[in-house]
Amino acid sequence: MTSHKRPRQVTLSSEETHSDDPLDDTDSEWERITEDPVKRVAFERKCIEDELTDQKRVILLQENPSRRSHCRFWDCVPRKLNGEPNIKSAFRFNVKDLSGRYYEPNKYYHVSCMEQIFPDLSSLVEREVLHMEGGVTQLTSACWQISQFHNAIEDWFRFKGRTFEVDIYDRFRRAHAKWDRKDSTVEINHQLGDHEGSRQDCEKCEEVPDEPLRKDYFPEEPRSSLLSEVLASVVGVGHLDGLDGDSNARRCKKIRRS
Ligand SMILES: [Zn+2]
Ligand SMILES: [Zn+2]
Repeated sequence: MTSHKRPRQVTLSSEETHSDDPLDDTDSEWERITEDPVKRVAFERKCIEDELTDQKRVILLQENPSRRSHCRFWDCVPRKLNGEPNIKSAFRFNVKDLSGRYYEPNKYYHVSCMEQIFPDLSSLVEREVLHMEGGVTQLTSACWQISQFHNAIEDWFRFKGRTFEVDIYDRFRRAHAKWDRKDSTVEINHQLGDHEGSRQDCEKCEEVPDEPLRKDYFPEEPRSSLLSEVLASVVGVGHLDGLDGDSNARRCKKIRRS
């Protein structure tokens, strides 16, 4: 935790000036913080708040392209379980410096760890400091990637902490795609078959069922959801960060997009 600011400056005696390890420090306030889990989380939250305010960092939800990034959370539960800080999940948070002024532009966290630091992530969306990573990324000179998240995730951000069940989006998307294929086929046959008049009155064309409507699939109001649970549903795993003991699940699954 050497990257964290100390709670307050202490005047060190000459024997102590060479020590830069917080554990060597006898500062009682620091000890109280390190020993109390509630104070540790509060301290961590204060550090990130400072980074958001003073350094103008933002928190970005990213797809996690590798298993190399390390979670910064002091009380990281996946690290305690697996003995390593690597984030193996399909998504992660990056407390990112967009200004280019800081030596360390990226600070990564498990999504579930950030939910412990900020139990109400939607308030960060409200304050416009928590975003989905968006836009176009150039991977190689010939290959571009357009970031697009599952609609359930996009709605979670749009409705600030509320969304619909991932299955509902998937069911509606499948039904609509099926209807769309059917409708296009009939339309093409009508055109190419030289049928008379408009398709609606055409006797040669088979009838296409009505277009599936969003309101028939979705409830009226989205409901409050933990972002980590929405992401786990999108990936198709029980717990996003493997806390259900199924940490390898992400490698077998393709992340659903829309
Ligand atoms: Zn963590
Ligand atoms: Zn026809």
